[in-house]
Amino acid sequence: MKQEFLNEKIETMGAEELRAIQEEKFLRQLDYVWKKSPFYRKKFKEHGIERGDIRGLEDLSKLPFTEKDELRKSQEDHPPLGSHCAVPMDDVIRIHSSSGTTGIPTFVGITKHDNKVWTDITARSLFAKSVRPTDVVIHAVGLTFFVGGLPVKDAIEHIGAAFVPIGTGASDRVVMTTKQLGGNLLHCTPSYAQYFADYLRKKKKMEPSELGFKKLVVGAEPGGGVPAVKKRLQEDYQCLLSEGMGNSDAAPIIFGECPAQQGMHFCAQEYIFPELINPDSGEVLEMVDGAEGELVYTLIDRECCPVVRFRTRDRITVFTDTCECGRTSFRIRCIGRTDDMLILLGVNVFPSAIKDVVTSFRTRTTGDMIVLLDEPGPKVEPPLRIQVEYTSGEKDLEALKKELENVLREKLVFRADVELVPEGTLPRFEMKAKLIRKLYEGE
Ligand SMILES: [Zn+2]
Repeated sequence: MKQEFLNEKIETMGAEELRAIQEEKFLRQLDYVWKKSPFYRKKFKEHGIERGDIRGLEDLSKLPFTEKDELRKSQEDHPPLGSHCAVPMDDVIRIHSSSGTTGIPTFVGITKHDNKVWTDITARSLFAKSVRPTDVVIHAVGLTFFVGGLPVKDAIEHIGAAFVPIGTGASDRVVMTTKQLGGNLLHCTPSYAQYFADYLRKKKKMEPSELGFKKLVVGAEPGGGVPAVKKRLQEDYQCLLSEGMGNSDAAPIIFGECPAQQGMHFCAQEYIFPELINPDSGEVLEMVDGAEGELVYTLIDRECCPVVRFRTRDRITVFTDTCECGRTSFRIRCIGRTDDMLILLGVNVFPSAIKDVVTSFRTRTTGDMIVLLDEPGPKVEPPLRIQVEYTSGEKDLEALKKELENVLREKLVFRADVELVPEGTLPRFEMKAKLIRKLYEGE
């Protein structure tokens, strides 16, 4: 029989049964954190909370949130890993760092046990994303500090697929190894998949689909869930795209999209307790179909760097209707990160939504764009300045500018000032794309 799940029992479990497991692990983890993590002992005390006040998951909201800045400060004040770290350095087997999209990077350590947990969650997510033992995985993602590197290697090997570590900045090697080893699955960021498609057309004079990938597995940025980007990549490579999402402070890949393509399934059932909150008020929102908010993680099986009610700053939409794949976990789409959000006359605008509109104008635009900010956001005085690349065949630039501005106004409800620039002007990215240029920082 065709295997559809990595762990059928937990992936098809009913809500009540799962909640009981989560609750037991949550309470055990809380005992551990109270005992072993000076950071949390102090934080809870400052909030006037005693261990006895928390009797179950229903009391979780009594605990304060943890912000990324607090972890950074904890690390500065208590090197090497911070006072939230709950094990001696002897027990740490590997140290990663957060990708540093905001501010100074922070380090994240794992023990042997944490590594097993990471492998289990990441493998489950990758399996949902259609990775199978028969696959030859061409891994075109950084292998160094990034949690999407070595932990993904462990997870792919755990599934039993063949892992080919290429890294970034080596497109020639991606072509060569794919041909020679019969690579059938490309694992990379959506930005790299776009970059590589252009590279193949321009440098190798071939269509991306000719390389023979049957699966495109992406993550680390919202692009894989941006409808126009997804459509473009599936057409370019002529194969199914599945996206995933993780968090360097929680686990490498926590969500994975199944072939039904109706959002990414939560795959850390017995390891992470997720909450959805209103990002402005901090109020907990019910995870009902269509709900939108910020994701918050409480790790319920972590030794080295435990976090409780960690604010991810990831803005998501939740889907809870039944999925045809049989997984019972909720699904999400990532709308963007709070740090990237702009507010124009009270309307929230995420750069990934602008990218969606610009990419939907292919082949008149290349799909590449960047938002220019003269002053720090999130509030921006309209019009929002956006540079968009047009393709060499486009003749009527005035009409294209007008059409783009009109569609942006209709779809995203803000006024844009589009500046068209020739193909190849804007920077290309092999890891995560930067969609905003901060002119006030002289970048
Ligand atoms: Zn599914």
